[in-house]
Amino acid sequence: MAITTSTHGASLTLIEKSTILFPINCYLVREDDGLTLVDTNWTNTAPAILAAARKLGAPIRRIVLTHAHGDHVGSLDALHQSLPDAEVLISEREARILARDFSLDADEPQTKPRGDYPVIATRQSRTVRPGDMVGSLRVVASPGHTPGHVSFFDTRDGTLIAGDALFTFTGIGVSGAFRLRFPFSSMATWDKPTALQSARALAELQPTRLAVGHGPVLTAPQQAIEKAIAAMGKRLAGRAAQQAATVTP
Ligand SMILES: [Zn+2]
Repeated sequence: MAITTSTHGASLTLIEKSTILFPINCYLVREDDGLTLVDTNWTNTAPAILAAARKLGAPIRRIVLTHAHGDHVGSLDALHQSLPDAEVLISEREARILARDFSLDADEPQTKPRGDYPVIATRQSRTVRPGDMVGSLRVVASPGHTPGHVSFFDTRDGTLIAGDALFTFTGIGVSGAFRLRFPFSSMATWDKPTALQSARALAELQPTRLAVGHGPVLTAPQQAIEKAIAAMGKRLAGRAAQQAATVTP
C-alpha cells in the first residue's frame, strides 16, 4: 500500500493511501498554533501522518473526524496514543456512532447506518455542532453518508473538506452515487436523499477547492459539484418514480 503526501496551497496537505480497492485521504490543515488533522485514514497510517506533520515542522494540536467509518477513524487509537494531548473532535450525532450506538432519532430516516464501524477505544475530548469553529474551519452539517457526517469549510481560502459527502475517485459523485469501479460509496451510504440535500447545501458555500475522502483534490469545483448533484437528483427521482409505479395497482 503506497502512501503519498502532497501540498495544496499554504494550508492543506493531503496524505493519500492507495489500497487495492480505492484511495483513502486524510488532511493536515495548518493553523497558527500547529496542525489540525481531518480524519485518520485506515489502520496503520499513523506513522505516515506523524511523518508528514514532522516534515511540516508543526505539532498536531487536534484531530477532527468527518464520520466514524473505518477508513476515516482506523488510525485514531494509534494517533491518540502518540499524541495524548491532541484534542479529538467529532460531531455530537456521530459520537454516538463512534461508540457503536446505532439508534436513530425519531426525526431521522429509519434506516440502519451502513458500512464498516470498527471498535475504537478512543473517545472524543469534546463534540462539535454545525456552525462551530475548529481553528479556521467551520463545521458544516452534511448528513446522509452517515447520520452525523460533517464537513469542514476553511474560512481563510474557501477550501471545503467534505469527507465522504462527495467523492472524486472515478469522477465526482454525491455520496451514494453508484460506480462500477467504486461501488463502496453507494454500499456505505445511510440515506441517499439526505446525502443529496447535504450536497446541495455544500454547493451553496461555493468552495474554491474541494478535498474529499476518496479521490483527488479539485480546484474551482463548483460546476463539477453542480453536475454531480444534477446526476444524483435525476437518479433518485427515477428511482422514486419506479417505486411509485410498482405500488400503483
Ligand atoms: Zn465513509
